[in-house]
Amino acid sequence: MTASTAAQAAYIVAALLFILSLAGLSRHETSRSGVVFGIAGMAIALAATIGLASRSIAATGIALLAVAMVIGAGIGLWRARRVEMTGMPELIAILHSFVGLAAVLVGWNGYLDVEARGSGQTEIAHDLLNIHHAEVFIGIFIGAVTFTGSIIAFLKLSARIKSSPLMLPGRNYLNIGALVAFVGLTTAFVASPNVGLLVAVTAVALALGLHLVASIGGGDMPVVVSMLNSYSGWAAAASGFLLDNNLLIVTGALVGSSGAYLSYIMCTAMNRSFLSVIAGGFGMEAAPSDDKEYGEYREIKAEDTAELLRGATSVVITPGYGMAVAQAQYPVADLTRRLRERGVEVRFGIHPVAGRLPGHMNVLLAEAKVPYDIVLEMDEINDDLAATTVVLVIGANDTVNPAAAEDPSSPIAGMPVLRVWEAENVVVFKRSMNTGYAGVQNPLFFRENSQMLFGDAKERVEDILKVL
Ligand code: NDP
Repeated sequence: MTASTAAQAAYIVAALLFILSLAGLSRHETSRSGVVFGIAGMAIALAATIGLASRSIAATGIALLAVAMVIGAGIGLWRARRVEMTGMPELIAILHSFVGLAAVLVGWNGYLDVEARGSGQTEIAHDLLNIHHAEVFIGIFIGAVTFTGSIIAFLKLSARIKSSPLMLPGRNYLNIGALVAFVGLTTAFVASPNVGLLVAVTAVALALGLHLVASIGGGDMPVVVSMLNSYSGWAAAASGFLLDNNLLIVTGALVGSSGAYLSYIMCTAMNRSFLSVIAGGFGMEAAPSDDKEYGEYREIKAEDTAELLRGATSVVITPGYGMAVAQAQYPVADLTRRLRERGVEVRFGIHPVAGRLPGHMNVLLAEAKVPYDIVLEMDEINDDLAATTVVLVIGANDTVNPAAAEDPSSPIAGMPVLRVWEAENVVVFKRSMNTGYAGVQNPLFFRENSQMLFGDAKERVEDILKVL
């Protein structure tokens, strides 16, 4: 068996492991084995690629590769150990930007390499050269869009820039113009390749990525994160074609299509059109306007909340990003146990985009050992909320905002929300009257059946536990 056949065989095994990994990651119970399959697949892929490369590159090249890998792995391990659960989306966003940048560099190298060899000496048959040129261009384009788009997503998710949408005049035409320019430049490049066109397409794609993500508003960011995940997959697949690496093509396609499917699921959950979100907020004209009078809000203390819970027959807890920040899931699990022991029916209502990651709340509650069967999806619990004595909104805001259902001018209008306001009593745990991620005020706080329990969610739940 030659080294190349061995590498191809190893690639098939790695590809199968990646598929098993995705299958494992789709359920809580099997997610750990999914991660293990992924690690095993990646280890095999790396070993096979280095083995294959070692035949054609000099020892110094291999040494450089090893040094780069050690440095990269070191930084990766360090970041992964330190990152908080709440910081995961921004870490993922910045990692996507690396995939994009790598695809741009591979594309540029793909062209410069062919040029350097001169068309007579290239390994690529003349007929295939045009296809190669198109691959270079497409790889650079997808990569550059992913690169700048992910950087903007990183900045928005980490609150380094405002999450509100950038509303440039004629923004839809800017996006369409960039796509038309891409098609024109590709045609010109295939006909007569030159560095000037490569610079032009890189600039157009960098600007498009920037504009696409900047023009998407806060509440729609979950879709953007999974969409950039998808783009990074296609960028990797494009690099796979250029590098003639089948595993990269398969892996890129797996990431690309699963990311696209996740984006579709998130759009359905948020009642958004998939096309309008991927086109950079196309059709979303609602501008945040917040000069409305909401009235007075009422405050409640932990002791009175404990009293309210003592007298309740059914309690629904709707957690959000604030529960993750406060790490309140452990006392919340204790509170659940305590109330259930007293015969109170306690359930959780989970919004599909609560927190900052798909499945964020489910992971936290599973970590605190809350039984799976009382953790319900939004659609499963919404109709029961009207018959609930107390709803505890723990660090959630946008996902329980009645404006989404009742105010067509709201930037989050149309997004399905947990209808907590239908319950007899609502207690909202948060530190201030500040807005949530989408930056819109929440009329829930001013309703007659709502009361605010101010302070860190973990401390307040612990206070309630003391009284109980
Ligand atoms: P929000 O981000 O709307 O609100 C969270 C609330 O938690 C804030 O109002 C904040 O209020 C409060 N909070 C923060 N820290 C604490 C603390 N220590 N103790 C108590 N309260 C705290 O949360 P939701 O989960 O309701 O909504 C998620 C939002 O994030 C949606 O807009 C969604 O679109 C977006 N998003 C979701 C992603 C996903 O994949 N799930 C990805 C990216 C964005 P205060 O400051 O007053 O304490």
